[in-house]
Parts: sequence; structure tokens; C-alpha cells
Amino acid sequence: MQKQNKTAVVVGAGIAGASICLALKQRNIETILLEADTGPAKHASGNPIGVVYPFLTKHKLAESEFSLAAFLYFLSVWEKFHLKNLVPHVDGIYFLLDSKEAYDRYSNAILSHQIPSHIAKESVEPFSNLPAIFFPVGKSVSPVDLTKQIIILSDPKIQYSSKLVNWEESENATKVICQTTNGQIECDYLFLTQGYQFAEDPHLAWMPLKKVRGQILKFPEQNPTNAHGILYGDYITPAINGFQVLGATFDEFKLEENPRPEETEILWDGLSKKLPNLFSQWEKQNPQEFLPRVSYRTQSQDRHPVVGKLPNLSKLDLSVKYQDSLKGNKKKMYIPYYESVGILNGLGSRGLTHSLYAAEILVSSLLKEPNSILDSIFNSLKPDRFLIRMWKREQLT
Ligand SMILES: Cc1cc2nc3c(=O)[nH]c(=O)nc-3n(C[C@H](O)[C@H](O)[C@H](O)COP(=O)(O)OP(=O)(O)OC[C@H]3O[C@@H](n4cnc5c(N)ncnc54)[C@H](O)[C@@H]3O)c2cc1C
Repeated sequence: MQKQNKTAVVVGAGIAGASICLALKQRNIETILLEADTGPAKHASGNPIGVVYPFLTKHKLAESEFSLAAFLYFLSVWEKFHLKNLVPHVDGIYFLLDSKEAYDRYSNAILSHQIPSHIAKESVEPFSNLPAIFFPVGKSVSPVDLTKQIIILSDPKIQYSSKLVNWEESENATKVICQTTNGQIECDYLFLTQGYQFAEDPHLAWMPLKKVRGQILKFPEQNPTNAHGILYGDYITPAINGFQVLGATFDEFKLEENPRPEETEILWDGLSKKLPNLFSQWEKQNPQEFLPRVSYRTQSQDRHPVVGKLPNLSKLDLSVKYQDSLKGNKKKMYIPYYESVGILNGLGSRGLTHSLYAAEILVSSLLKEPNSILDSIFNSLKPDRFLIRMWKREQLT
């Protein structure tokens, strides 16, 4: 492929930033990956094991269509780049249907989304004997190795311990000037994937994103061990490299970094109640001796990812009120953008499943390629949705 004469800067070496690097690599765009920390995947993408499977709703919604498409895209990247040989993982995820409502939702989701049985099928989870949806190619993976391998495949110029401190468009808006702790970089495209540290960027401060504390527990492989991931509100992964993970407790109000012993207890106790046939066969042990990990996910107001060209709030005409424009029957709000700046954030609890596809959508749209996804999905992801909502509620002034 011919080298493009363009340079992109990607900010953040979590799974989101890595995924953008891959989408840029596939277009042969020279890429600089900036990471404030000393290496990749040290924050939300740094858990020892995470699960990959789609979010489904009873009827087709933009959210579930996106999630299913993202899962299928993840699988295609997994195949194309032989990630099964590079990333520690175990195939197969059971999602327990332990209430009538859950059964109704997920069994109908398979029909309404026309999901073939090699992707998802009704089943019974052997340890709980409960009905479940089984995702045969759903995965428990090491997010750290996944992120690292995607970066290796993308081969960007990497600057670790280099923090983006400020950025602005050049005077004629043809370039973006980035100030970093290691100096200035001029680029044609800027991709922002700072995760929960989004609020340090004044261009993003208006976005209704939330930092949410999560705690998991890593413990040595038990005997017998579950061969597949099992999701039951919380989740237990199968063993990878001699360890299993139990997750997760979440808190959006208190965000301290120290692990909470009581949450370790809650996770352990929850497992004993939900999967007694598995748990009762294990040797008795003290979960406080295992390794908890605290990290922070970023959650948007509607829990859907934020993917798209970044609106430029400083150029927004706030004199136009929603109520006034309604009277004139012109409901549209004119949104100015930073034309060469994109954001991928708000990945919530599903960054591993969603980030590769979200990155592909973002890079493709910023490069003005023909739109290959449904408008309803594309629009549901755009940051504009919050701006419009805030404009209607007069929350922008
Ligand atoms: C407890 C827990 C369990 C989870 N389990 C799962 C799961 O099983 N499956 C799943 O799909 N998802 C799971 N998630 C969600 C998933 O981990 C996240 O959605 C995903 O890791 C987010 O990736 P990210 O790249 O957006 O953020 P991060 O991984 O946090 O990366 C952001 C990066 O940006 C860097 N950065 C920030 N500001 C700057 C700056 N100014 N300059 C340079 N660099 C900067 C940071 O240092 C960081 O490395 C879980 C999340 C948590 C908290």
C-alpha cells in the first residue's frame, strides 16, 4: 500500500488507543502513539483477564446492533492477525439466564438479531444447572497482552512517559498542534483516547462522562476449574497462565485507589451462592490473601460509547435557543467541529469487545471514507448527542 503523506497522533495506549493505531495502520497513515504512563495498558485496560462478548437487547436497538457488529469485527481481527497464537485466552462464555426476564430478553435477542448458533445459542451451564446463553467464540483474554499485540501489529512511533498537555488547531485549521511533556508535535489528525482522564482536557470537559471505580480479584487456578467464563451479574473467568479472575464491584461515587476488603468478601460470597457446585469442591481458603485490583472505567451518560469527530464548543452559537428555533420550525442545531480531531471514549464495561470496531468507525469517518455502517448506529455513537441534549435543556450557558 502506498504511504500516505499524513501523520496522526493517538493519545492513550489503552485498548482504545491501540485499536485506533490498528485502523490507521490499515490505511498506511504514519502514527505517533503518546502515553503518559511508562507503558501500555496500565489503567482500565490493565486487568489480568477480561471477557469479550456482545451486549444484547430483546429487540434490535442501535446499542445492541453496534455491540453485535463490534463483536463480529473483533472476531474478524482476531482471525486476520492470528491473535489466538499471540494473546493468552480461553474460548467460550456462558451468560446465565437466572430470571424469567433475563431468559425472555436473551432468547428473543437471538431471534430478533438473527444470531447464528456458532455465535450464540441457548444452553445449560453445567456448574449452576441454570439456562444460559453460550457464546462459543466469546473469549476470556488478557487485556494487557491484547493491547500490546495490537500495538505491535500497528507499529506506531511510540512515546511513553509523554503526556499531552494541550492542543489546538493551527490558524487555517489544516494542522493540529499538540503540546506534550516532551515537546511539540504537529499532525494532520488527532485521536483522543484518554479514558477516565478525559476531564484534564479542557476541550472535553463538557462531556457527560463519568469515572467509575471497579474492583476485581485475581486468584490461583482452582481445582476443579471452570473451562469457560461464567457471567452471573458478576463473572468468573477460566484460568489463564495459572490464575482466574472474579469481577467486579463498581462504584461511581467513592473512587479511592485502595482495594476494599469488604468487596473481596462480597465477590467471594456471591460466587459461593451462585455456583455452589463449583465452589463447594474447592479447598477452603481466605480470599483476603488473593490479589485485588482497582481500576477506573469511563462511562457516558447513556452508557453507549462516544465515537466521532469532536464538536468545537468554543464556536457554538449559543445565542440560538432551542425554544426559539422550534418556533421558527427549524429544529436543527448547527454544530461546528474540530475537523481533524476524533474521540473514542466512554467504553464502559465493554471496551475489549467494542474498541476495535469503534476505532474503525472513527478513523473511517475522520478520513471522510464512504460510510459503511447504518446511520442509526453511526449517529448513536457521536458525541453530538450530548451537545444537542444539553442545548435543548439550556445547559450550555
Ligand atoms: C474492573 C473493570 C473490569 C472490566 N472488565 C471488562 C471486561 O471483562 N470486558 C470488557 O470488554 N471490558 C471490561 N472493562 C472495561 C474496559 O477495561 C475498558 O472499557 C477499557 O479498558 C477502556 O480502555 P481505554 O483505552 O479507553 O482506557 P485506558 O485503558 O484507561 O487507557 C487510557 C490511557 O490514556 C492515557 N492518558 C490519559 N491522559 C493522557 C494524556 N493527556 N497524555 C497521554 N496519555 C494519556 C492513560 O495513561 C491510559 O493509559 C472493565 C473495566 C473495569 C474498570
